[in-house]
Amino acid sequence: MNQLRYKIFILVFTLLTSIFFSQVVHKSYASARAAIPILMYHYIRDYNNPNDKSGIMLSVSTSNFDQQMNYLSTHGYTPITLDTLAAIYANQAAAPAKPVVITFDDGYIDFYTNAFPILRKYNFHSVAFIPTGLIGSGGQMNWDQIKELQRSGLVSFEAHTIFHAYLPQISYQQMIKELQESKNTLQSQTGIVANFVAYPYGASNGTVIKAAQTLGYIGGIGTWFGKANGITMNMPRVRVNGGFPLSLFASRL
Ligand SMILES: [Zn+2]
Repeated sequence: MNQLRYKIFILVFTLLTSIFFSQVVHKSYASARAAIPILMYHYIRDYNNPNDKSGIMLSVSTSNFDQQMNYLSTHGYTPITLDTLAAIYANQAAAPAKPVVITFDDGYIDFYTNAFPILRKYNFHSVAFIPTGLIGSGGQMNWDQIKELQRSGLVSFEAHTIFHAYLPQISYQQMIKELQESKNTLQSQTGIVANFVAYPYGASNGTVIKAAQTLGYIGGIGTWFGKANGITMNMPRVRVNGGFPLSLFASRL
């Protein structure tokens, strides 16, 4: 009889301690390394060319974008930069209640003309990935505009190679140049070190990642779907396509 009681005691004790520790472990994981969405935008423009399906998909209308930013604002989200994200994951900065990173790829002129005025209205930080060799060409921002955005204190600029290169398929030498020169150009133009690179087309491999790390990037940004769970060299993003209803946008946060 005593032996049975002892066995029951051990069983209950084991059960309770395992529940307790799983809660503790889960809790500390959740607070220190919460998943944070990095939103991915390309064009913010009213665009409806029926012959350009991919252009339509990559274009969020100004009114939809405003609604999405309004949703973030009214639901307590705090847009942060990637450097802040890194500081949070390194336990060097406190995370706001609902952090989110808002990113824009390719340095299109509509970031300056359409997206930024809306972002400024909500006092939102954002991150722009700039292919440095395309700056000033058709449809792109120029350096004066980039510097003006930077002076607002609301936009940080990160690397996106020189010529929007498909990094895994060019020569090693060219790949190094794309990663290094774009980083140097951003630094000399803005005075700020670009710590992150968004791989054009989300394309990287082990060689690209190793090179990026060696050149001083602390994080690499891909396009595969998911939320950030730490700083890595192939971080996921949450793509926001044109025509997303607000409910779909909200469900992805
Ligand atoms: Zn791109």
